[in-house]
This record gives sequence, C-alpha cells and structure tokens, in this order.
Amino acid sequence: MSQPTEGQPMVLQEDRFARHQSIKWWDQQALTNARVLVIGAGALGNEVIKNLALLGVGHLAIADMDKIEASNLSRSVLFRESDEGHLKTVTAAKAALALYPTLNVHVIDGNVLSDLGLGWFRWAQVIVGALDNREARLFVNQCCIQTQKPWVDGGLDVLNGIVRGFDAPRTPCYECTMGNADWQLVNQRRSCSLLARQAFDAGGVPTTITTASVIGAMQAQEVIKRLHQLDCLDGSGFVYEGLRHTSYPIQYTQGKNCPWHEESTSIQSVNTFDSDTPLDQIAQWATEKLHGLDAIDLSRELVQTLTCPKCQNEREIFMPVDRLKTSTLVCETCQEECVPAFVHSIMPDSPLMQRTAKALGLPAWDVLWARRGMDGLGIELSGDQEKQLQTSQIHASNPEG
Ligand SMILES: [Zn+2]
Ligand SMILES: [Zn+2]
Repeated sequence: MSQPTEGQPMVLQEDRFARHQSIKWWDQQALTNARVLVIGAGALGNEVIKNLALLGVGHLAIADMDKIEASNLSRSVLFRESDEGHLKTVTAAKAALALYPTLNVHVIDGNVLSDLGLGWFRWAQVIVGALDNREARLFVNQCCIQTQKPWVDGGLDVLNGIVRGFDAPRTPCYECTMGNADWQLVNQRRSCSLLARQAFDAGGVPTTITTASVIGAMQAQEVIKRLHQLDCLDGSGFVYEGLRHTSYPIQYTQGKNCPWHEESTSIQSVNTFDSDTPLDQIAQWATEKLHGLDAIDLSRELVQTLTCPKCQNEREIFMPVDRLKTSTLVCETCQEECVPAFVHSIMPDSPLMQRTAKALGLPAWDVLWARRGMDGLGIELSGDQEKQLQTSQIHASNPEG
C-alpha cells in the first residue's frame, strides 16, 4: 500500500476519523501525536496493536522476541498462514501499516528483560504490557517507574481476564498487587538454575481470541482515556469474569514493603553519550555532576562469566541473563551446566569501566545509573536515539525481517 502524498491526506484523514470527531471530547490530534510502546505481540498484543492502529495512534513501538508459529494463528488477527516463521514484531508492524498507512511503527526484536533499552520507555507516553509472565511484568513495572511513565497491563486466563493501570510512584504499582502465591512462583523460577529457568518459560498460557479481544480492547481504551486525561485505571484494575459475568473493578493499595514509592531518581538525556562510549568517560561526567561517584548501576543484571564446575573452564560472557542460549550455558568440553557470575554495579576503579555499554551486553539506548551516597542520576545514552528510531522503523515496502 502506498503512502498518501502530501496535500491529500487531510481530506482522507477527516473521512477516516469522522465518527471519532463527532465525539465531543475526542482529540484526534492527541492520538496522531501519541507514542505508545506495546510490549508483547502475541494474542493480546495483536489486539492492542490492531486497535491502536485503527484508532489513529501516530507512533507505535512493538517489542517481542518470538517468531510466528502455527499455534498463534487461531488468536492473532494480524498474522496469516504465510507469515509462519517470520518475526511477530515485523509482521504485526506491517499489518498495522496496512490498517493505517500514515502510522510510524518501530520494532524491537528481543526479550524485554535483555534487549529493550530504557530509552524506549522514555520515548513513549504510555506503555502497554501484553505479557504472559510475572517476571516480564515486574521488569516493565520497574522500567516504567524509573522513567516515570504510566502503563496498562493485561492478563488472560481462559474465559477470564484482567486489565490494570499503574502510574507509580503516585499510585500503587504492579508489585503492590503481587500476593504470596505470585512471589512464590517468581522465586521458584529465580531459584532455578539458568537452564531450568528456560524450561520454566517454555509453556504457553491457555488463551482464546475471544478473551484476548475483550482485554486487548480494554487496554487500548485505557490508552485513549489516558491520552485525553480522562479517568482511567490508576492503581486499580478491572477483573473480567467471562463465565457468569460477575466482572468487577478492583482498587489496589500500596504494598507496605514495596520499594517503588520513593521519589524517582531523575534522568538526564546526554546526546554525546551512546552505547559505544567507554564507561569511564560517563563516570567522569557523573563524578562532576554528583561531586563524587560510588558506582554506576546497570539497568539489568548481566552475566559476566560462566564457569564449569567440573573442568573449571571459565568463559567471559557479558550478556543479560535472558539473552543466554542453552548452548552457551553448558561447558563446551564436558557439557556440564556452567555457574554464572553476575554484575549489576561497576565501581570507579573496576577495569570494566574501560568497556562500553554495548561491550557489557546492555541494549542500545539504555540508561545508566550513577550513584553517590543517597544521591543518584540516570544518564540516558541519547546518542543512540536517532539511529535506533531509524533502524527500527518499518515501512510497508521493507523486506521481511
Ligand atoms: Zn508498589
Ligand atoms: Zn566442563
């Protein structure tokens, strides 16, 4: 489908959104200007992306790591049989472009836990979680709070579902909603060896398109309401009960021990720093700002080395845990599962300071956290931004990724 030429779209646009414009409070321009990050392009993500494109949201970023399988086809309106084996992100983006050709759509092919830089959260006005596990939700929750962005979470359970909106630290956050049973499951996964964790993640959630449509539509509607400053789910949720229709709203309370309700550390965009800047340069800059430096904290935990417990063979890795492949986790010589050593903070005198964020395994367009005593400062590696936005953009004519 060709892009509308300049001069022409105004009439087209007016026709396209005529039914929106007869809504008194509707502001189509607010949607045209909006930037929304959708994390997950499965059953729920498909519905959210479809709705946001039809509604005329102007800028979308879609993050997912998976390729399309046959089992996705019964629940994904944007995928066709011929798309099997292709990336979910690229296929969803192209389908969204076909629905709304003036859309600017970006894709991040990777795991949210390892490959999504915090810059994408800073870019977005609102984030939509279309996720199927607690670990990813916890991370998205953390990233949204650190970048001070609201997010809308959706969850599916056969005929039932849930939609929740958070804007912490002001409102209760996702972590505040976690009960003992949720933490037990998270800790069960975290206490597993890295190999077992991958097996843990392999199962799929039982879902149908009908519940995904209901919940995805509600999530998209929450985005619209937020962009119009209307009342929306805000530290609260809506439980959709699809069997007996006893659906109900739910108000969350701030967890007593929830760590996310202090004032957030401010983040500064620095255009001269990118993921190829040696950390010691960034540390020097931060030292001047904070009049000293205790450490640079990373956006996520990295595996620094893997050591074989049998032959003591140690390999340097530098990669976020969730990017590690099974084949990397086992010893090349004896096939034993290796033991990881992690790094989350880098001290000023560490030799790791000579490395770049990229060499450490961090994703592009990330944020580093400089810390001195009680003071802190987030440093957005904004030098990556333009390249990220450019290389991630999908055009209708792009070859299949
Ligand atoms: Zn909380
Ligand atoms: Zn070995």
